Amino acid sequence: MCRRSFSFCSASSVEALPSHVHPSKRGTRIVITVQDIHKSFGGLKAVDTCSLTIREGMITGLIGPNGAGKSTLFNIIAGFEKPDSGQVFLQGEQITGLAPHKLFHKGVVRTFQIPHEFENMTALENLMLVPEGQSGEKVLLPLLVWGRIKRQEREIRRRAEEVLEFLNLDHLRNELAGNLSGGQKKLLELGRTMMTEPRVVLLDEPGAGVNRTLMGTLAHDIRRLNREWGYTFCVIEHDLDLIVDLCHPTVVMAEGTVLAEGSMQELRRNEDVQRAYLGESLEAQA
Ligand code: ADP
Ligand code: MG
Repeated sequence: MCRRSFSFCSASSVEALPSHVHPSKRGTRIVITVQDIHKSFGGLKAVDTCSLTIREGMITGLIGPNGAGKSTLFNIIAGFEKPDSGQVFLQGEQITGLAPHKLFHKGVVRTFQIPHEFENMTALENLMLVPEGQSGEKVLLPLLVWGRIKRQEREIRRRAEEVLEFLNLDHLRNELAGNLSGGQKKLLELGRTMMTEPRVVLLDEPGAGVNRTLMGTLAHDIRRLNREWGYTFCVIEHDLDLIVDLCHPTVVMAEGTVLAEGSMQELRRNEDVQRAYLGESLEAQA
């Protein structure tokens, strides 16, 4: 599948885009394998004997009560935390403990809030900073970036403009990132992943602090990136409506480990899952 409406197609890097998955091939290959991961902070077991897989071309949901270890697991996959034991594989390649910028370069992309210092840059500039990170440079070093990208600058600018257009943020291209609403910042974070060549995009609570309308927009964009461009996502989210709407399959974590995996319909009937949520009624939320 080609990003026909997107000039990434004409860029020399296009054949290297591993995120392209033909619809008929969705879910047949495993992108990320998490094998028997343990991670403690002091005496607290944040992730405990955790194993799961993320399949190519799917939007996998990751849910579970607060403190279940979901964010820690994302940090381990994306290299921001080192596990005490266990392994992570990217399409069979051992990637456990690699530095975040190396994993970013390999296409393992985790969204974060826009760093404080970038709030004084425009939406367009925020996107234009990202590609340098994938060419093996240290990620996100604006001063170096400005010196080195002169030659590629026009192409990168065009990509950034197209990303803004895709996200319906083009009218805000020259707005400082710090002036964007919470939801618009989330869209911009998503846009930053679109400036890379992701093999898997890890979204940690994309709906947090976002109003209903922008949440709909965000979900729409995630779905489009998945269906039209074959992006693989794993999404942590408390809003189970969003999970039902977007994700299949969904993995449930509790106390650092995987309790169950399946469709939300199956999970709602699962007694272990119901117990893990205790007062937080899955029925009521889903
Ligand atoms: P979730 O994202 O599912 O809510 P987290 O992965 O954030 O859960 O946290 C799992 C547990 O690990 C929690 O008890 C949390 O307080 C603890 N934890 C997470 N990160 C750290 C850290 N850097 N230092 C100490 N404890 C942590
Ligand atoms: Mg979390």
